Amino acid sequence: MKVGIIGSGGREHALCLSIKKSPRVNKIYCFPGNAGTSDIAENIEIDLSDFNKIKEFSIKNEISLLIVGPEKPLVDGIVDFFKDTEISIFGPDKISSQLEGSKIFTKKICEKHNIPTAKFGIFENANDAISFLDKTQFPLVVKADGLASGKGVYICENKDDANLAIKEVFDGKFGLAKNILIEEFLVGEEMSYFIISDGKEIKGFETAQDHKRVLEGDKGANTGGMGAYSPSRLLNQPLEEKILNKIIKPTINALEEMGSNYKGFLYAGLMIVKDEPYLIEYNVRMGDPECQTILPKLKTDLFEIINACCNENLKDINLEWHEKKSLCIVLCSKGYPDKYNNQILIDNIGNLKLDEDDYFFHAGTKKINDQVYSNGGRVINFVSLSSNFKNSRDKAINLIKNLNWKDGFYRKDIGHKVIDE
Ligand code: ATP
Repeated sequence: MKVGIIGSGGREHALCLSIKKSPRVNKIYCFPGNAGTSDIAENIEIDLSDFNKIKEFSIKNEISLLIVGPEKPLVDGIVDFFKDTEISIFGPDKISSQLEGSKIFTKKICEKHNIPTAKFGIFENANDAISFLDKTQFPLVVKADGLASGKGVYICENKDDANLAIKEVFDGKFGLAKNILIEEFLVGEEMSYFIISDGKEIKGFETAQDHKRVLEGDKGANTGGMGAYSPSRLLNQPLEEKILNKIIKPTINALEEMGSNYKGFLYAGLMIVKDEPYLIEYNVRMGDPECQTILPKLKTDLFEIINACCNENLKDINLEWHEKKSLCIVLCSKGYPDKYNNQILIDNIGNLKLDEDDYFFHAGTKKINDQVYSNGGRVINFVSLSSNFKNSRDKAINLIKNLNWKDGFYRKDIGHKVIDE
């Protein structure tokens, strides 16, 4: 069977590597992929917003299954676009994808179905939002409604911060802003909880914790993710039952009432406050770098899982996992998340020696004349699995040291909450 994977990050390289292991897959295309995927699949340069081109290519090349990595094509309705074709496509439709595409859409579902989340207000203009600041407490959180690649969320310590955030959002920093969300600041510990669904059945797809801030000690600017570990230290059976019964299932039911059966990965960003889960956000796809951290733990054939979801047979699949502790460190270009240079040679990559439980996934890389160059802020993800997080982190750091890429930097403290120094 031929499979197409949409996206170009570390997440898509990890998906590609897992799908490649299936004996039923004989060819993978990546749209557009990266230097890593080009070693195991064929990279195709296509504008991801041009669904017609992806369709024409897929039909011509007899692709049977498309897997969508990033959120943008999902929110733009790529799954609906392929509905009338013979090609199966894995991911939620346009209605369900609003869970990520609009924070206000999600908050309204929470309100209607009593799903625990931070208290919030929706404001349609800057004046009303600014007046509200006189009657509230700090810190609070200001959020732009739509997709903003992790940058549309402001944690505001005081009124000045909040005024600035409101102004930036309504001035159009993240595109046209019809309204804005102001939220209560929740104090607790975060956890990412993943499920996979075929529209009828849902199954847990592991937990993780990512590190969004650029500097050690979880300080500095927000990034796409500097590293992650799996599993989260917080999950236990009573908590999982609460997450499923109070958050995930009511959401899936609410979407069903709107005429949408949720198919695909669903990622719930949660704050755990005194053993109670609160929804912070939904993402309608796997996380990056959580995907790279979680997939090496999966024993079951990923292609069979996804194929079963497309055929609404997920109940027949038994998901099996390695018990190991997985930790991922992201090697970034110096300067990220601000200004950084591209097209820098990563010359030592062919010499890296991996143990059985070591992986590296390309993210912002590109091959030119058979050599690997950087092509983005987050460049390579190093993942190690072992019986404890400390050992996994040491192994990942060793791999980065062996690569010895002078133009990169990384956080040495990924997993600090689960590692005693
Ligand atoms: P974007 O929409 O820009 O892509 P995002 O989806 O990453 O951003 P969120 O996950 O909603 O945005 O928020 C980013 C981070 O901000 C969270 O991981 C969490 O650390 C913090 N945060 C968001 N909302 C709250 C809240 N109500 N209380 C405490 N912290 C919060």
